[in-house]
Amino acid sequence: MSPQAPEKTTVDLVDEAATLAFGAEIASILVGNPDKSGVIFLHGDLGAGKTTLVRGILRGLGFEGRVKSPTYTLVELYAISRLNLYHFDFYRLTDPDEWHEAGFRDLMNQGAVCLIEWPEKALGAGVPLPTADLEIYLSTTPDNRRRLTMNFNTTAGQVLAEALNGTFHPVR
Ligand code: ADP
Ligand code: MG
Repeated sequence: MSPQAPEKTTVDLVDEAATLAFGAEIASILVGNPDKSGVIFLHGDLGAGKTTLVRGILRGLGFEGRVKSPTYTLVELYAISRLNLYHFDFYRLTDPDEWHEAGFRDLMNQGAVCLIEWPEKALGAGVPLPTADLEIYLSTTPDNRRRLTMNFNTTAGQVLAEALNGTFHPVR
């Protein structure tokens, strides 16, 4: 089955707890996925809530430790009971060779969940990222809430998006 044409849905996240809850819901869907893999791009300005969402996913997976943005290392690995999760942040990527030297490309082919902040910076620098199953866009509203929109590019992403829509009732 091939995925339908990408379509966007929008969810209002009224406070940080809502962003964490959205992440926890992603986590519960991921653990039910037999592949234990998937690629999610996280788009949005600084402070939009990308790392907060990653923290929500990790908390939902049972990870209790500190979740820091992998700003200087570009990637952080979390091995959580049978699920490998890589959290990438390409905000400070300056030299695409950093990517090749670190062998990150191999990491992505090992059946893991990859959460990628600033994918556009990686792609702009010539780093070949895998196709995102799901793309999430976060933005800040004038009243300082967060607005989340998402679209999928694959069947796996469609399954994720539809499950999330069922829980979070898109606003339009
Ligand atoms: P990014 O990784 O996109 O730069 P962070 O997640 O590091 O952003 O920071 C986002 C900030 O916004 C944090 O201070 C967090 O508490 C706050 N935040 C996250 N979600 C919401 C929300 N739904 N409403 C209001 N504030 C939020
Ligand atoms: Mg961040």
